Amino acid sequence: MLIGAHVSPAGGLEQAVLRGRERGCRAIQIFNQSPRRWRPTAHSEEDFARFVQARADSEIEAVLIHAVYLLNCASEDPEIADKSLAALTHSLRVGDAIGAHAVVLHPGSAKTGAVQPAITRAGAVIAEALAESEHCPLHLENTAGAGGTLGRSFEELAQIVDAAGAHARLGLCLDSCHLLASGFEVRRPDALRNVLDRCVSLVGVGRLGSLHLNDSQSPLGSNRDRHANLGQGELGREGCATFLSEPRFDGLPCVLETPGENRQGPDRRAIELAETLREEGRRARQPLSAARRRG
Ligand SMILES: [Zn+2]
Ligand SMILES: [Zn+2]
Repeated sequence: MLIGAHVSPAGGLEQAVLRGRERGCRAIQIFNQSPRRWRPTAHSEEDFARFVQARADSEIEAVLIHAVYLLNCASEDPEIADKSLAALTHSLRVGDAIGAHAVVLHPGSAKTGAVQPAITRAGAVIAEALAESEHCPLHLENTAGAGGTLGRSFEELAQIVDAAGAHARLGLCLDSCHLLASGFEVRRPDALRNVLDRCVSLVGVGRLGSLHLNDSQSPLGSNRDRHANLGQGELGREGCATFLSEPRFDGLPCVLETPGENRQGPDRRAIELAETLREEGRRARQPLSAARRRG
């Protein structure tokens, strides 16, 4: 598992690599533009080249780009749908240019309308953005299930994948906080195993693409998306350790989007804590007999 953090690219894309290195990250996630504005940041070829070089000189093996929050690929409003298509296509092209592991996308919202047509609309926009970019994968993130947000269940995520033509570049980004908030018990290995069995039976194990590890301020099934620092929320140390040590997550990038001790986002200690919890989780999974044999 490539553990890392969401970091800012303020001051230039390659600054995100430096921030990742400071924190001991093996994966980073960035916004490719201001997350609350439509206007894309204009990056030059030189910006991309500097980023690629900085990353090649670092321990960072995977870069995720989080698409901006304003996007709603499922919007009924043609203007919002067009802007969403343009912004998503732009993110994927930045991903192409910097060799990103994936663009992570909240699949959209039906708002107060019907869910099935919203899924169809989202699928069409996603398919078009993929057609207008080269090779960067696109990971649909499961949501906490607030309001009309799409992607609260694996059934919905699978339907969106299908509505986008089951494109080979589509995968999932599973967020631990969103899973719990949308009603999935994932805090013990057997419970998480059952949840993932359901997930891969619907979308295929090959589509498990990336992870967000966040503890949750809100309880199981609350449908509220409020991140907590690791071990300080409803997942707790055990829930975080379970997520971090899940065998099917081996090798995937796993980024923290936690508030941080000083509301500055995850710092080096948060990454170290995640590494420690991963070890705790792995030890807890070893059968008793193996532990006894080791003495
Ligand atoms: Zn997200
Ligand atoms: Zn969240």
